Amino acid sequence: MGREFEYVIVGGGVAAGYTSLEFTNRGLSHGQLCIISEESVAPYERPTLSKGFLLPESPARLPLFHTCVGANEELLTPQWYEEHGIELVLGTRVESVDVGHKTLLTAPGETIHYQILIIATGAQALKLEEFGVNGSEAENICYLRDLADANRLVNVMQSCTGGSAVVIGGGYLAMECAASLVSNKMDVTMVFPEAHCMPRLFTPKIATYYEDYYQSRGVKFIRGTILSSFEFDSNGKVTAVNLRDGNRIPADMVVVGIGIRPNTSLFKGQLRMEKGGIKVNGKFQTSNSSVYAVGDVAVFPVDLYGRIHRLEHVDSARKSAKHAVAAILDPDKTGEFEYLPLFYSKAFAFSWRFYGDNAGEAVHFGDYLGTTFGAYWINNGRLVGSFLEGGTEEEFEAIGNATRLKLTVDDPDDLGRQGLNFALTVSKKMKPQTPRIEGGTSSLVLETPVYAWHATAGVVLAASVSAFAYWYGRRRRRW
Ligand SMILES: Cc1cc2nc3c(=O)[nH]c(=O)nc-3n(C[C@H](O)[C@H](O)[C@H](O)COP(=O)(O)OP(=O)(O)OC[C@H]3O[C@@H](n4cnc5c(N)ncnc54)[C@H](O)[C@@H]3O)c2cc1C
Repeated sequence: MGREFEYVIVGGGVAAGYTSLEFTNRGLSHGQLCIISEESVAPYERPTLSKGFLLPESPARLPLFHTCVGANEELLTPQWYEEHGIELVLGTRVESVDVGHKTLLTAPGETIHYQILIIATGAQALKLEEFGVNGSEAENICYLRDLADANRLVNVMQSCTGGSAVVIGGGYLAMECAASLVSNKMDVTMVFPEAHCMPRLFTPKIATYYEDYYQSRGVKFIRGTILSSFEFDSNGKVTAVNLRDGNRIPADMVVVGIGIRPNTSLFKGQLRMEKGGIKVNGKFQTSNSSVYAVGDVAVFPVDLYGRIHRLEHVDSARKSAKHAVAAILDPDKTGEFEYLPLFYSKAFAFSWRFYGDNAGEAVHFGDYLGTTFGAYWINNGRLVGSFLEGGTEEEFEAIGNATRLKLTVDDPDDLGRQGLNFALTVSKKMKPQTPRIEGGTSSLVLETPVYAWHATAGVVLAASVSAFAYWYGRRRRRW
């Protein structure tokens, strides 16, 4: 008979940290919660690994980026877990789970019993081998998913400062890594198969803006082709990459960012899976009522889209975690998760956010020669998505608010001319009547005066179809 806990979280990443905070905010008692994590450190804000962690000067290091600082909440250090009576079992892989008997087995051989299990196992980086390219275990080829990967990347980078780095992939992680490598004085070449970076979100106009800047910082882009093989020296280190188009690029190091796969294997055959993840309802409960799944592994209903989706971004991990705890502790008062997808990235001095869905026609606005610009997406006559680079907190919040309302747009050209002012005006009109969008457990509560304004503005709150997870979720197959 092993240890028993009321609540067990398997996985110790972003969602685990936010789950813990929500439990304690709702009155968790000592000894009720246990977290089992393969990583050797307490939950931290994973996005820092490709940003502050890679800075050449004053890089971010733990404990400074433990959860939940990314959402301006408490910093949960290992001491915090101790003080709150939360058992942190670190450096320990869960080998198997038996959801019928409510037990799990850890790698060292301990059986742990639970009443409620929360799956927060996140995802793993896709390896080149899965695409028929061998050798990616070489010491100067780096992936970036966890702290160990990030430490390795820093060591490799520092061992060849001033040398050549090849970045495989054109998604946000690859773009962030390329920027960090440049800041660390590396000569960087990016290789991806599409015509532009971030093809599932960026329009060619948006992508060109960033690519031009990257090029001005010395980054070379090789588009429309993929990696075919590596060349190694006698010590097994990569010396060059060969591309399918016949190009050969000398390399002192390689960074691979070609997508991720959710960690669901512990539950295959035990829980209902869909779209590559673990299917949950609007309260993050799986097909077994004692098991919840949050963060990157969860496939949940996104009401706004009228479909289930698996999202791979940190905002969704944080908010799904909090909502699951509310549903566990207060099921009668907790409704369905109402979520407006939010995704952000930061590289060099750039900072952008995207809300909603990038389906339909893109309407660009702002100064594409300057530092603040964006786009709205209009689908079936309604505003369904918005992107903004270089906004203030108020401006980012405004595009989020405007997107959530799914306003009818009669004249896209006029919307483009109004640009950011459109969202700011909408947001200001909403503000007196609406609470701030916070924590993810509640959506905007629209009170009577706002409804009146909606009617005149032609607001339609009906859900519509989304392709957001399409571009993002399938990204891994299209590198
Ligand atoms: C480098 C990087 C930068 C990112 N930047 C951004 C960004 O700018 N914007 C954005 O929106 N999103 C970003 N993301 C995505 C975001 O970090 C993830 O969506 C988020 O971390 C998901 O949280 P999670 O808790 O579901 O999974 P994770 O944070 O990945 O945590 C999963 C945890 O489970 C553990 N685990 C897995 N299997 C087991 C097992 N069998 N036993 C024990 N433990 C296990 C893992 O070791 C890990 O600790 C980034 C991701 C990375 C890797």
